[in-house]
Amino acid sequence: MSRDYKTDKKANRKRHTTGLLLLSLFLIVIGFGILVGLNKTRKSLVEECENSLLWEVQLTAHEVSNDIENKLAVLDTIQEMIVQTSGIGPDAVKTLAASKIRYGMDYLAVIDTNYTYYDNEGDVIPDTRTKHVEEAMAGKKVVARSVDDVSGDGVVFFVPCTDEDEVVGVLIAKASREELLEMLSVKPQEGTELVVDASGKVVLMADDFGNYLDGMSWDEFFQNGESWKSKKQFDDEIQLMGCAVASAVNKAGKEIYFAVAKVKDYEEFFVVRLTSSKVVEKEIRQSMDRIYFLMVTMAVLIVGVVVSALVMYIRNRIEIYNTAYVDQLTGLPSKAKHKMDAQELIDKGEKRYAYVTFDVDNFKFINEMFGYEYGNKVLNHIAKNVKDSIQPGELCARISSDNFALVLIDGGTQKDLETRIYDLFKKITEPGKPGEVLNICSLRFSCGVYRIDKKQDINAIRANANLARAENKKSVLDEIIFYDEKLKARRVEEKELEYEAEEALVNGDFLVYFQPKYDVETEKIIGAEALVRWLHPVKGMLSPALFVPLFESNGFITEVDLYVLNRVCELIESWIKNGVPPICISVNLSRIHLYERDLVKRLSEVVSMHNVPPEYIEFELTESAFYEETENLLRIMAEIKAAGFRLSMDDFGSGYSSLNLLRRLPVDVLKLDKVFLEECEDGEDETRGKRIVTHVISMAKDLKMEVLAEGVETSDQKMFLQNAKCDMIQGYYYARPMPMKEFELLYKSDKSL
Ligand code: C2E
Ligand code: MG
Ligand code: MG
Repeated sequence: MSRDYKTDKKANRKRHTTGLLLLSLFLIVIGFGILVGLNKTRKSLVEECENSLLWEVQLTAHEVSNDIENKLAVLDTIQEMIVQTSGIGPDAVKTLAASKIRYGMDYLAVIDTNYTYYDNEGDVIPDTRTKHVEEAMAGKKVVARSVDDVSGDGVVFFVPCTDEDEVVGVLIAKASREELLEMLSVKPQEGTELVVDASGKVVLMADDFGNYLDGMSWDEFFQNGESWKSKKQFDDEIQLMGCAVASAVNKAGKEIYFAVAKVKDYEEFFVVRLTSSKVVEKEIRQSMDRIYFLMVTMAVLIVGVVVSALVMYIRNRIEIYNTAYVDQLTGLPSKAKHKMDAQELIDKGEKRYAYVTFDVDNFKFINEMFGYEYGNKVLNHIAKNVKDSIQPGELCARISSDNFALVLIDGGTQKDLETRIYDLFKKITEPGKPGEVLNICSLRFSCGVYRIDKKQDINAIRANANLARAENKKSVLDEIIFYDEKLKARRVEEKELEYEAEEALVNGDFLVYFQPKYDVETEKIIGAEALVRWLHPVKGMLSPALFVPLFESNGFITEVDLYVLNRVCELIESWIKNGVPPICISVNLSRIHLYERDLVKRLSEVVSMHNVPPEYIEFELTESAFYEETENLLRIMAEIKAAGFRLSMDDFGSGYSSLNLLRRLPVDVLKLDKVFLEECEDGEDETRGKRIVTHVISMAKDLKMEVLAEGVETSDQKMFLQNAKCDMIQGYYYARPMPMKEFELLYKSDKSL
């Protein structure tokens, strides 16, 4: 058992460690998964931001393309107007000046086929042949970066002037910068945009552009390709798809995201959009924050679920533990827990221990008499005192109903132990304050102690202590019995007796003795009690006090009682046959018979077999039987009475006699135990004792019962009983129990037969 418990404990610890390891591993994997997942999410968020940058720059490029288109259409209108009104020459100045204002241009000029230049202010410059002018003369509309050093950026348009499909000159226009900047409509907090040509030279640049590069010029930034994450890939993408996105580090070490898109139909122009990594980061952070929030919410939920599951699990365990290991009534450890703890303590062997087991005598009676609630109060009271009495390193428990066990440190002598246990019993039975538990009844304990002298199995230890306790039950004097080898030898002897009993009954080794009962007035024999003896071939004459309790424990007493009844019937039968007037003889019936179903039938069969009228047989039921099986007993008594037998209550006054119960019992005779007479001789209490006996006798008579006093030994006792109107006397004063023959002779001489 102890080994099982230890193995269980080890297995449990192993299971817990494995569980913890698995849980840690699981958490590491989950944590790693979350990190990888977060990293991936971050990457895809960066990608998403880059895509939206690309999308926005493409939109702007589209806008720029549309705008150029619109401007070219306007310029076409202006050139048509000039050709048709003033023609290309000095007369065009007026129209140019008016159109400049009307269409919001920085300036307007025309060049005739001789390459003479007329602008809106009336300036005339000869021979202005340039590459773009010549391309326009050839009929192509040209949009080019302004080479004007003053403004630094801008777009110049070269539109052919045609007269009936023949180029007659070129219209040159520079759009106003403000108007052009409207194309680059970026919110300042989102970044900035610029338009560059294929060589990276700035065509149009917002005013706040410089802020983004922290003092770095565009050219510097653009040329500083090493700081780009992948310039080559970037170039390839532009080549292939007309747009690309990348990030580079500016002079101040800040990361800048920039996206580039070709302007459709005007592929010498590119729109560049710059965004500080802060903007991107902010967007990512916002998304990440949402993800973190979700994750935290989920984690809280999971933790909540796990915690409540854990709480439920722990509660469950506690409940299981409490039901299995804690005695629900007293809160002391249960038998199972006690056995485990005791075995562990004894196995450690650090100290010498004594195993103590005790119970309350006739606890069943307390329950029946005062109710289960009171019984529970008593048990709790005992448990509290037991708990208070033990020292650290000692154990206590309630084993079953009124049976308690203790493992005490046995550091001194047997006397020391005995004193300790007596002190405990004294404390338990100490009268409490008025209304407290033990003011109603006093308790007596049966206690067995086994001093453990070696490592042993707890079951064997308990068995030895229980043996001592059981021995205690047979004795009235001692409350504490220590287990010793003699006790064991006695137990062996008892076992032998049990073994030999059946054969002894067949061999007629059981003898029936008779103790006469006398009429108080006439002092004549008016009955007798049959008392069994065992004439053992080796051990000699054995008293019923030695073997009756033994046979009660194994049930053999029922055979013995029937045997006695048979012998008694034989005697009465022979008297009837021989003309001797029969008298009533009583036979003791053990309370074990109460569990027999057809008891009365069996008794009647014996009596009728011997043709003995049942009124000559009286059955004695001992008082202690009355509080064990009250209802059952009442039923059987009624049956015995109905069968015509006489009935007596034996040993009245030796235990917890209930006068109340007496009223319900259909008994003919009340046999006062000899303790009543003892009390009548108890010095100070003598008068009180005598008064009690007198009252009990008169009360019994009121209930129509006859009264017999047992154990009368002196003439004083006899005289007192005569005065108290007792009906019958049985005791050594008149006669001791005697063999049948002797009794027959005595009876016949008494009758003067
Ligand atoms: P009990 O039925 O109360 O029997 C009376 C006991 O008191 C007898 O003891 C008897 O010898 C003893 N006694 C009688 N007069 C005196 C006296 O003046 N002074 C003293 N000190 N004792 C006296 P015994 O025969 O040893 O029987 C003891 C008990 O064993 C009986 O008590 C009864 O309970 C039980 N017993 C005896 N025979 C049988 C039996 O056949 N069947 C059953 N079930 N129990 C039996
Ligand atoms: Mg008796
Ligand atoms: Mg008796």
